[in-house]
Amino acid sequence: MNHARATVISVQSAPKSVARTPTLAQTTCPYCGVGCGVDITLETAGNKTTLKSLTGTPEHPANFGRLCVKGTNLLETNDLNGRLTQPQMGGKPVSWDTATSAIAEKMQQVIDEHGPDAVALYVSGQLLTEDYYVANKFMKGYVGSANIDTNSRLCMSSAVAAYKRAFGEDIVPCNYEDLEQTDLLILTGSNAAWTHPVLFQRMERAKRQNPDMKVVVVDPRATDTSTLADLHIPLKPGTDAVLFNGLLHFLAQNGGLDTDFIAASTSGFEAALSSAAEYSLSRVAEECDVPEHDILALFTLFLERQRAITFFSMGINQSTSGVDKGNAIINCHLATGKIGKTGSGPFSITGQPNAMGGREVGGLANMLAAHMDIDNAQHRDRVQRFWQSPRMADKPGLKAVDLFKRINEGKVKFVWIMATNPVVSMPNRCEVEAALSKCDMVVVSDMVTKNDTLKFAHIALPASGWSEKNGTVTNSERRISRQRGLMKPAGESRHDWQALCAVAAKMGFAEHFDYQHPAEIFDEHARLTAFENHGNRALDLGGLSGLTTAEYDNFRPVQWPVPEKTVAGATRLFADGAFFTADKKARFIAISPCLPEQQTTTAFPFVLNTGRSRDQWHTMTRTGKAGKLLKHAPYSQLSLHPEDIKALGLSAQELVAVNSACNTGEPVILPVVEDKQLRKGNCFAPIHWSATWGSNLTLGALFNGAHDPLSGQPELKQGAVSVAAVSFNLHGQMIISDADVAAALSPAFDYWAKTTTDGGTAFRIASNNDTGSLFSNLKSVLPAHWLLVTRQHEKGLTVIATSENRFVFGLWLENSYRALPDEWLDSCLQQDDISSELLANLLRGTPDEAFLNGKLVCSCFSVREKTIETAIQAGCSSVDRLGNELKCGTNCGSCKPELQKMIDSYSSTQTAKAVTPEVILHD
Ligand code: SF4
Repeated sequence: MNHARATVISVQSAPKSVARTPTLAQTTCPYCGVGCGVDITLETAGNKTTLKSLTGTPEHPANFGRLCVKGTNLLETNDLNGRLTQPQMGGKPVSWDTATSAIAEKMQQVIDEHGPDAVALYVSGQLLTEDYYVANKFMKGYVGSANIDTNSRLCMSSAVAAYKRAFGEDIVPCNYEDLEQTDLLILTGSNAAWTHPVLFQRMERAKRQNPDMKVVVVDPRATDTSTLADLHIPLKPGTDAVLFNGLLHFLAQNGGLDTDFIAASTSGFEAALSSAAEYSLSRVAEECDVPEHDILALFTLFLERQRAITFFSMGINQSTSGVDKGNAIINCHLATGKIGKTGSGPFSITGQPNAMGGREVGGLANMLAAHMDIDNAQHRDRVQRFWQSPRMADKPGLKAVDLFKRINEGKVKFVWIMATNPVVSMPNRCEVEAALSKCDMVVVSDMVTKNDTLKFAHIALPASGWSEKNGTVTNSERRISRQRGLMKPAGESRHDWQALCAVAAKMGFAEHFDYQHPAEIFDEHARLTAFENHGNRALDLGGLSGLTTAEYDNFRPVQWPVPEKTVAGATRLFADGAFFTADKKARFIAISPCLPEQQTTTAFPFVLNTGRSRDQWHTMTRTGKAGKLLKHAPYSQLSLHPEDIKALGLSAQELVAVNSACNTGEPVILPVVEDKQLRKGNCFAPIHWSATWGSNLTLGALFNGAHDPLSGQPELKQGAVSVAAVSFNLHGQMIISDADVAAALSPAFDYWAKTTTDGGTAFRIASNNDTGSLFSNLKSVLPAHWLLVTRQHEKGLTVIATSENRFVFGLWLENSYRALPDEWLDSCLQQDDISSELLANLLRGTPDEAFLNGKLVCSCFSVREKTIETAIQAGCSSVDRLGNELKCGTNCGSCKPELQKMIDSYSSTQTAKAVTPEVILHD
């Protein structure tokens, strides 16, 4: 695909004469902070636009044509099933006019009676910059409260605070090319192979092209990211600041300091070094619980290598001392001058598509706007004059954890939640639920009709989604790209900025919120960044102001700052050794490492770590729609070290109850799986699954809301939990073609967890009931015209239903769990005419041989574990050879680290076998 073919079009203005001709539009992926460019072929017939196919944008500098499995399957998640298409009040459809009038009246009433700090907005890194800008301006400049916080608080607010402390401004100094041009890449607190796959693939290629480049992974777990590592440091959770303090001390002891840079461009070095001086190699090894020679190997690499990148993410940020950890990392880069240079720097990667855009407009409660400070009177005055605002917020607002606490205390009486699902993603779920159930008015703007948060909405507003939203996003390397509106918003859905403007107008601010197009909002945002800037703020988009709508529509990705129209954007910052503090010097911060607050006890002896699953995104409202994306991990599960599994007397796939001291609700119940790459005493669960997906999937309830005192970011990487077997009379599976019947059936079971398949919905279930009562419950829900066949046997019950000779429902219950492959059951659902032989196999629970090949590894080509193992045993000793043989890993590449892990695992068994005779001889 060449540049000429990739002409960006404005879909809405496509001439009628080409209405049936496929055209190419360019946009961005709505998932992670890599910010990949996406090319879409679309076809318009009359008023209807159809997205036909999708590929990565070859010339987009974030991905150069590559997409991970989530991006590749975007079109599979873009249908109208489950879309909220009309405003609702009390569950009843209403007009936009009615809904926005009710919101405006309630906000005004609460403000009049209790002051502006009694209302709040809780927004999201999924908003586009234009939505975010309007939300921030509305709250801080017109409502007069800074009670606007965002789910980015849970993602990278510690990195923001660390950058600001060190550099005087929230600035990510590096870019993606640095990952390819470095000598040493340290990934700490990041499973990039799963969370930022396209970037990880860039790292893999860089290492292939430069075998001398060293990669170190610092993570309590050995993840798929570790397959790239020359060295893995499996440190004790929460000891990252000990490690980096130790590194600073080591550098000073071993001639590793850039004394010229320290003298010319920094302040506070002596105090930072003095704090670090206590962290000798042996102390670091002991506190991090890692062999001293491995710590020495990492420190020596950092000392000797000219260039180094420290790539960090949620494992650093989601901590009660996340800001200190960030600064401990930055200190090491400042001490060695490894910053502002090619292939060097402390590189925080954001989890969300537009967390960075939110940071630019001031979407966090402790920011003002355009990188100006809310606690700075001069900044407030400047922004007030620019906005011509009647009432400016004059102090920081409530950060996420405190916001929900204040709602629970009745101090905040109105909250408008936009594009996020805090009941799932926040810690202390029971408190968040209690808060929302007692709040006077909860407004939720979302695309979907159901999620855990919408249950609490008094008013639900239908929001436009990806492919409809039209604006800009900023990725992790400060690159602004267009996310283009390709289709009309579904039903009566509106853009979030439009909903905000409608409410603002009804509160008397129409004149200041009368935008007709996102280009006008972007222009205002760009002008504010440049307003009285005089080079004092790095965030300067002056060169992007004054764009016409056509120029805005044709906007090419660019990295800020862009102070003038003639400037192409800055690939890297601080090259001149000048920072954005008052004295232009970067600040070292003296760090005293702290332990995590949620410590294990006798009653709650396991450290619970959370993170992402490879093919899912956030709370699965989008990725959960694609059966293909659920094949890699159909259900949530708890990973435990094999020795812990043995000590607890558990077996693989057994259901366990996970609980913590702060949980006042039901325990979380998950099947257990073995992961020998975990530290003993640690367990891991993915964040995505929620009460929408199962009876006991309320992970956030296990974390007590402990958070960093500076950033407010919650400690979601270290809970203290108990793990115990949970017993049920009956265990089993169920699969149903009809979604409504599936929803009606699930409450019949004491435990259920569901997953989307290509042909319907599959369940894992358990019950303390007997088969007779369960069967009569089910019969009352199943459609009367379904033909039921049952098989009662000594271990339990099987029920099969057919309709018009199609298999539409199956239930298998036994006294212990026996897993039938969901994919076999799903393939049966999709057959038009069910044979008597297949019916008999379903009744007996005897799967076809072809479906007994283990878990799916390559989602793109449906290649399973056992097929891959056989190929490895037959001599496929590299990922490339597996790709040639089986095609696995040859499309999006998301499974390549897992393939490498399987090869490594097989090689280590072979090596172990090879050394056995020596051991015997020695004995
Ligand atoms: Fe989307 Fe994957 Fe790119 Fe992230 S890496 S932006 S999820 S395609």
